[in-house]
Amino acid sequence: MKILNHQMYIYNQAYNIFLNLWQKENSKNKKLDKEDRVFRNAVSYDTVVKRALRLRKLSFSTVVTQQARINFLKAVKKSFSKENVSKRLKAIEIATTPKEKVKAFKLGMPTFKSSRDIFQSFNWNNQGYQILDDINNNTRFKTLRLLKTNFRFRCHRTFPNNYKLSSITISKDAIGYYVSFGIEFNKQVGLVVSKDNLDITKSIGIDLNAYNFAISNNVDFIQDSNIAKVTLNHLIDNGATNRKGLKYKNTIKVHIRKQSRRVLNELKNCKQSKTKFKLGSNHKKTQKKLNKLTKRISNQKIDLYHKITAELTNKFDLIVVEDLKTKNMSKSSKGNEITHGKRVKQKSGLNRTILNASFYQFVSMIQYKTTMLNDKLFVKVNPQYTSQECSCCGNIDKNNRPKQDKFKCTACGFEINPDIQASQTILKRGLESFGLGTSLVDLNKHKAFRSTSLEVAS
Ligand SMILES: [Zn+2]
Repeated sequence: MKILNHQMYIYNQAYNIFLNLWQKENSKNKKLDKEDRVFRNAVSYDTVVKRALRLRKLSFSTVVTQQARINFLKAVKKSFSKENVSKRLKAIEIATTPKEKVKAFKLGMPTFKSSRDIFQSFNWNNQGYQILDDINNNTRFKTLRLLKTNFRFRCHRTFPNNYKLSSITISKDAIGYYVSFGIEFNKQVGLVVSKDNLDITKSIGIDLNAYNFAISNNVDFIQDSNIAKVTLNHLIDNGATNRKGLKYKNTIKVHIRKQSRRVLNELKNCKQSKTKFKLGSNHKKTQKKLNKLTKRISNQKIDLYHKITAELTNKFDLIVVEDLKTKNMSKSSKGNEITHGKRVKQKSGLNRTILNASFYQFVSMIQYKTTMLNDKLFVKVNPQYTSQECSCCGNIDKNNRPKQDKFKCTACGFEINPDIQASQTILKRGLESFGLGTSLVDLNKHKAFRSTSLEVAS
């Protein structure tokens, strides 16, 4: 593991040197006319790094430094993508204090890597490695031979036939070390779903809430009973109250209290004896334990999300969710990335639960699982008034929702659980975005259309 840690360190150093060179080059070029500007090429980047590392008597592999350069240049390119540039310009416009301005100018730009961060990684290209079967013939394990060393690893997935390896990433976090292989292979894709052959019974809308995910269709759900429990068929427990995680929560509380006491004591100490502020090895040890526990809880949530999204994407051809960017959940208190709003304190409790539910993670999982093989459909819709609009008649009225847990349409009298109702409105909007003007509720009324493929327009 020492070898791996060293390579991660080298990767970070190389990356930082590239960033430093690039920043210097930029500030020099700024002063010059456009035609006089000079840009470094890849070879020149590599020579500087090699010289710098040799001067510091660090042993290194050129593959790692080259990969660091490739990733760095990718990050530079990404920072000038349309999306990032417009984000930055917006932030610069809003920023008022000098501190905010500096932050705004740096938004989306590559940053220096620190070897103190919990998550570390480095990349390897598709050469100079071997994947061997396990020495003990255990099929669950394999051996990766890299840098003249054997690393035994747990093989979570088997490689497909005729794959081509493009890159290897080795990383570590609070719990352990990981190796991931980037591969290319051909896969036969089955029937591709399009708006013409979409089966409406295989379409679903999801309403994301702090304590559950409401879905428009009834699904028998198998969930990890240790982590989450299904309350109603339409309502999936999203793990916000992670029952297995609750076990760790008290331990975490105790550790956090310990840590803050240590910090306070040390603060007092260095004030009295005028020494440098320094936390001991016990602080470090406890921090390690804390990092492990929080990582474990987040892993449980990710695992649960994978289970839910896998089930949904297997069963359904079209999945509609709210566009979180425009969903007004925590906006009023958090402001934007640069300026924080005024009501942070009052709303932070709610924000925490929202963060805990990590909707973004959930939605991105659905997105890649539906779109990666291009055989399913995925739509994001405007979430405005989804909680007030009647999915039955389309009547939008604040009074449709007299209480938090009640929905009754003032126009047609349709009565249903408000979360499920929102998910049905979301599905309806998703279908409409395909030009399919019908909804599940319509279909319940006209049972004849139910299981046939879609030829109905309302
Ligand atoms: Zn209605």
